Amino acid sequence: EMIITMKNVSKIFETEEMETHALKNIDLTIKAGDYISISGPSGCGKSTLLSILGLLDTPTAGEYFIEGVNVAKLSLDQAAEVRNQKIGFVFQSFNLIDELSVFDNVALPLRYRNEALSNAQIKLLVSECLEKVAMNHRVNHKPNQLSGGQQQRIAMARALVCNPTILLVDEPTGNLDSKSGDKVMDILETLNRNGTTICLVTHDPRYADLAKTKLKLLDGSFLQVPGMRAAI
Ligand code: ADP
Ligand code: ADP
Repeated sequence: EMIITMKNVSKIFETEEMETHALKNIDLTIKAGDYISISGPSGCGKSTLLSILGLLDTPTAGEYFIEGVNVAKLSLDQAAEVRNQKIGFVFQSFNLIDELSVFDNVALPLRYRNEALSNAQIKLLVSECLEKVAMNHRVNHKPNQLSGGQQQRIAMARALVCNPTILLVDEPTGNLDSKSGDKVMDILETLNRNGTTICLVTHDPRYADLAKTKLKLLDGSFLQVPGMRAAI
């Protein structure tokens, strides 16, 4: 079952002086349960591709379907709704709210949803996600009382709490020492083993290799690897 299908997606940035073809005719399919890494040198288009996948930006040309729904040309409001329902984001820079406890940081996406959840339901969902990242023992801490690796694990719990169709992960280890980075990558692997679909963007080949499907971008195109399914 394909949850993501991109066909012939291109992205051109136009400035006064120049045009940049950040993505060129990208074909990408992602199935439920996949773990895909996208790696490549600085400027190859990784962030642009992740932004389009996450409906933070739109392609200049091409088709993009999430669970069969054409999302290439949604209005900003429609895109925000699909994003909130179907996409979980993890960024290099955690993006936690310092004034809120771990619990309230993770609960935030649930409280922004339209459907009203009881406090007991919220507590259960938050606790389940903190369990997945081994952080239930820090539920009342504030982010600045935690190590960087722990903050990233809280950010992962927050990304999971609305049960997204896909988890988009952008350089999750960029601000971490190697021990904390390894732990974050271990958790991603466990999440995937338990069914979470993951698309990881990283310039670190060591971490890109941990994914089940390894895609490489160069100058806005996927390098073709014989026998590879995802770069069709
Ligand atoms: P990566 O994440 O692999 O470093 P990016 O996706 O950020 O690469 O960038 C791909 C190309 O698109 C680069 O040449 C970059 O300079 C250009 N680019 C990215 N965003 C913009 C923008 N908003 N305006 C103009 N050019 C951009
Ligand atoms: P883990 O192995 O669970 O990731 P760490 O080695 O990151 O744990 O942290 C060990 C302990 O030190 C934790 O209880 C954490 O709360 C605390 N700690 C780590 N870094 C900081 C920090 N910058 N400020 C406050 N407490 C910290």
